[in-house]
Amino acid sequence: MLGKALEQFFSSDSVSDGWINLRVETGLRHNFRDLRCCYRDAMGSNRICRLAGRPITDHSGGFIGYRGTATDITSEVEAHEMANHLAQHDPLTELPNRVLLRDRLDLALMGMERDQTQVAVLCLDLDHFKEVNDTLGHGVGDIILRQVAERLRATLRTTDTIARMGGDEFVVVQVAVSQPVEAEALCRRFIDVFQMPFEVEGNDLYVGVSIGVAIAPHDGDDHERLLKHADIALYRAKQSGRGKYRFFEHAMDSELQARKALEQDLRQAIARNQLEMHYQPLVTIEGQRLTGVEALIRWHHPQRGLISPVDFIPIAEDTGLIIPIGEWALRRSCNDAKAWPHLTVAVNLSPVQFKHHELIEMISQVLAETGFPPERLELEITESVLLYDANAALKILAAIKKLGIRIAMDDFGTGYSSLGYLNSFPFDKIKIDRSFIAELNGTDKANAIVKSVISLGQSLEMITTAEGVETLAQLTFLTEEGCQQVQGYYFGRPIPPAELTELVAEWQTSGRDATAA
Ligand code: C2E
Ligand code: MG
Ligand code: MG
Repeated sequence: MLGKALEQFFSSDSVSDGWINLRVETGLRHNFRDLRCCYRDAMGSNRICRLAGRPITDHSGGFIGYRGTATDITSEVEAHEMANHLAQHDPLTELPNRVLLRDRLDLALMGMERDQTQVAVLCLDLDHFKEVNDTLGHGVGDIILRQVAERLRATLRTTDTIARMGGDEFVVVQVAVSQPVEAEALCRRFIDVFQMPFEVEGNDLYVGVSIGVAIAPHDGDDHERLLKHADIALYRAKQSGRGKYRFFEHAMDSELQARKALEQDLRQAIARNQLEMHYQPLVTIEGQRLTGVEALIRWHHPQRGLISPVDFIPIAEDTGLIIPIGEWALRRSCNDAKAWPHLTVAVNLSPVQFKHHELIEMISQVLAETGFPPERLELEITESVLLYDANAALKILAAIKKLGIRIAMDDFGTGYSSLGYLNSFPFDKIKIDRSFIAELNGTDKANAIVKSVISLGQSLEMITTAEGVETLAQLTFLTEEGCQQVQGYYFGRPIPPAELTELVAEWQTSGRDATAA
């Protein structure tokens, strides 16, 4: 090194900024520091160093060179780059993460006017991936995610960006001259490449994808709005069945806003006393006696009036509000039903409540607190409860039964009926869904279905109840077929507790209540 000029020592074949700066800086003959340079070490490998120096002069003040230090910072720089990469990429799939995606999206948006382009943001979400994870384990889930990432990447052009946002969510930024044509073509390709199975440990697994698309500038011109709108479109794609793509429309946003507002109001509904239970008579066919009621929830919204449970129970289920609401409904029903000591009361249980680990404790607590006799309580569940983890569900059912409570299978025939579970669990009652009753005498098919459900109930020693009986003709058919119990407008609509008390009195005076048995 001795006697060599700095510029020679820091090899000039690496035309880095550092080297160019070195010439400028040393030419100025000032102090310099933190100058990044490249050099080749004795082994011939490229290294990076940091230089600091100050000019030195001879006795007469003439410049004779620099004195200073060179520090090798190669590993520091590499660690820094690594940290940068990690901060911007997803470790599992090696795809860019949301941080990098946002940068790239911002860049794409800035170039729109100059390049006369439009930018499509595609939000992708795998269908039923949670079940893959839950049933096959996270290890398999990770393998699939990596294959998915690879497949998606292979479908893109080099100008497109794909990122993993977390979980099973991916986002693609596509810059193109003619939108939405190119985004639509890309959606088709994506859905297509998911037609082929993923191979994991020798098994073929099918995973679908749903896509929501927002296009700048029409649907928004900043990353936040575009991602939000693509996400809303994705939500819609999922709702319209899986394996679909949807483009954002402004109406989707207002619907979502309305739903959000309703959700907010629902959070307050219990505290503000807006919920109420109504009760609908359950009547035995033999002797036509009033023996029980079904408790049905009602929401009196201060502005919107009465909201049907069909419209707000799904929201309560999505948000988890069904847990406090369901508990409230059970407590209210037990308290109300104390006024009708001869009647059973049936309360609906949501599948979401069923997955809640404190269900049994909650039920026992309400029974203890209200002093309501468990043998007068019936809980209605739907087939969907048994859909995923049937074994776990059957255990919970058994625990409920042990409390002395009866269990009814509601809306029978509308779910993913696998009759197998009727064998593995002794339901006390099956309720034939009212859609079949509505079609009675209209189609031979409905007649046949109702007939066979009744005889199924008979042979398994379960009571069959027909829902939604509105006409004498329906009642006559059900009577002839040997159905035991009916519920429907023919005998009475759901009514507030005070009215039911009057109704019970009427039935009592006409000798048609449960005590007449
Ligand atoms: P569901 O348990 O099958 O209740 C029967 C539904 O049929 C009730 O609707 C009832 O009003 C209606 N219905 C009864 N008879 C007739 C009839 O003759 N004709 C017609 N067209 N309809 C009849 P509702 O009260 O609107 O409740 C709808 C659903 O909301 C219920 O279906 C149940 O799944 C759910 N739900 C109601 N209350 C609760 C609750 O407290 N908790 C939970 N988790 N779900 C509830
Ligand atoms: Mg019900
Ligand atoms: Mg029902």
